[in-house]
Amino acid sequence: RVVVVGSANLDLVVTAPALPRPGETVLGGEFTTVPGGKGANQAVAAARAGGEVAFVGAVGGDDFARPQRDNLAAAGVDVTRLRTVPGPSGVALIAVDRHAENLIVVAPGANAALTGLSAEDRAAVAGADVLLCQLEIPLEAVAEAAATARAAGTVAVLNAAPARRLPAELLSTVDLLVVNEGEAEVLAGHPAQPADLLDLVPRVVMTLGARGAAYADRDGLRLDVAAPAVEAVDTTAAGDAFTGALAVAWAEGRPVGEALRWACAAGAVCATRPGASSSLPTRAEIEAAL
Ligand code: ADP
Repeated sequence: RVVVVGSANLDLVVTAPALPRPGETVLGGEFTTVPGGKGANQAVAAARAGGEVAFVGAVGGDDFARPQRDNLAAAGVDVTRLRTVPGPSGVALIAVDRHAENLIVVAPGANAALTGLSAEDRAAVAGADVLLCQLEIPLEAVAEAAATARAAGTVAVLNAAPARRLPAELLSTVDLLVVNEGEAEVLAGHPAQPADLLDLVPRVVMTLGARGAAYADRDGLRLDVAAPAVEAVDTTAAGDAFTGALAVAWAEGRPVGEALRWACAAGAVCATRPGASSSLPTRAEIEAAL
C-alpha cells in the first residue's frame, strides 16, 4: 500500500500562436482543463502502475474541485482522506505556444491549507508500506508525514520537487530521495551525483531524462539504469510516472535494480505520449516496455 501526501491542482491550459509579453494580450486557441499537481499525478501514476494507493490532500470549495476528485477516483485512488477546504482549489494557469514553450503560474489555493495531518491521515501513513511526498504543499505537512512514517516503519520516499533547500531535520526522516539533476544541485549546493547526497539521506535515486536513472545508497550499492529507447513526444509528467511506479515497486519489495528498470520504463512510456496526467502508463504498458 502507498500513501501519497501532496498537492492537487487543476491545470487550465490555453494554446497560443505566441506567448504574450508583459502587458500584452494575445488571442489564443483551444482551452482545456487537466487534473494535475505533482501529488495527484504521482498518486494516479502509482495506481495505474498497479499499486493500492490512498491520497492525502486538499481541494477547494469551487467548481475546480470535482474534476480533480473524479480523476483520482477514476484511477482507483482512495480519496477518503482528500479534504475539501473553504476557498479556491489549487490551479495552474498555463499558456503553451506552437513550439511547446510555456508560461506557468501556479496558485496553490487549497494546497496551502494542508499545514498538518489529522489523526486519520497519520494512521493511513503508519499503515502503509510506502509514503510518497513532494514539495508542493507546506513543508510542515511533509515533515509530519515523514516523521510519522519513520516512527511506524513506513518507507518515506521524498521527490524533492520543485527544487528547494531542505532542513536537515526533515531529511533525517527520509529513507529514499528522488531528484533530477537540477533538484540535486539545489539540495547539495553544487552539481551532484547520487552518492554526493548520501550525507543527507540513506538512499538516492537521480532521474537523468533519456539517459535513465542512477542510484546510490549507504551500503555502497551504485547502479546506473538505462531508460528504454523511445520516440519522445512530450516528457511532461515523465518524472511523475517514474516516481509513482518506483513507489509501487518499492512497496512490492522488489530488488532495487528491478524497481529502477520498472520506473524508467514507466517514465519512457509517458514520454511517448502528449499530455500530463492523461499520459501516465498502466501496469500492462510498463511491462510491455521492459
Ligand atoms: P523530470 O521531468 O522530473 O526532470 P526526467 O526528465 O529525468 O524527469 O524523466 C524521468 C524519467 O522518465 C527518466 O528517468 C526516464 O526514465 C524517463 N524519460 C524521460 N525522458 C525520456 C526520454 N526522452 N526517453 C526515454 N525515457 C525518458
